[in-house]
Amino acid sequence: MTQSIPQLPELQPCPFCNHPVPKDLSDTLYPSGGYWRESEFGRHYFGIKESREGDGECWGMNCTQCMGGCGARINGDSMEEAIAKWNTRASPPRGMTPLTVTRIKEVLADWEMELTDTELTLITRDIERAHGIPTPPENGDSRVSDKGVDHG
Ligand SMILES: [Zn+2]
Repeated sequence: MTQSIPQLPELQPCPFCNHPVPKDLSDTLYPSGGYWRESEFGRHYFGIKESREGDGECWGMNCTQCMGGCGARINGDSMEEAIAKWNTRASPPRGMTPLTVTRIKEVLADWEMELTDTELTLITRDIERAHGIPTPPENGDSRVSDKGVDHG
């Protein structure tokens, strides 16, 4: 059964790796091959062999590895649900801000460590990534050269 794809809501980048969703969705958003039906015991899932007309169709949003993504997959009981789950974002806790080189240097000074600016930038990015803090994609290096700029 071919479904025409209605107008889609805007798709956010991957919630795990931030990889942008490609324009051509054929490898990204598609039915996962599962179906479901409500029964007296709740929602029951099964494969295509057991499916019949009127069953719900499961869909998946995929961060496709061959297109540079991380391979993450989010399933929904409909295309709309898969998209809604994909697009759901937790808000960062209040007061959470990207790290600055200055702050990292302070911490490293506590540990009596000294690193080059390149090492500092790499470490800053790794720490931000590990904590889910978004890093500016291209100008990440600028924080090394923006000494003297007051970020408040
Ligand atoms: Zn991803």
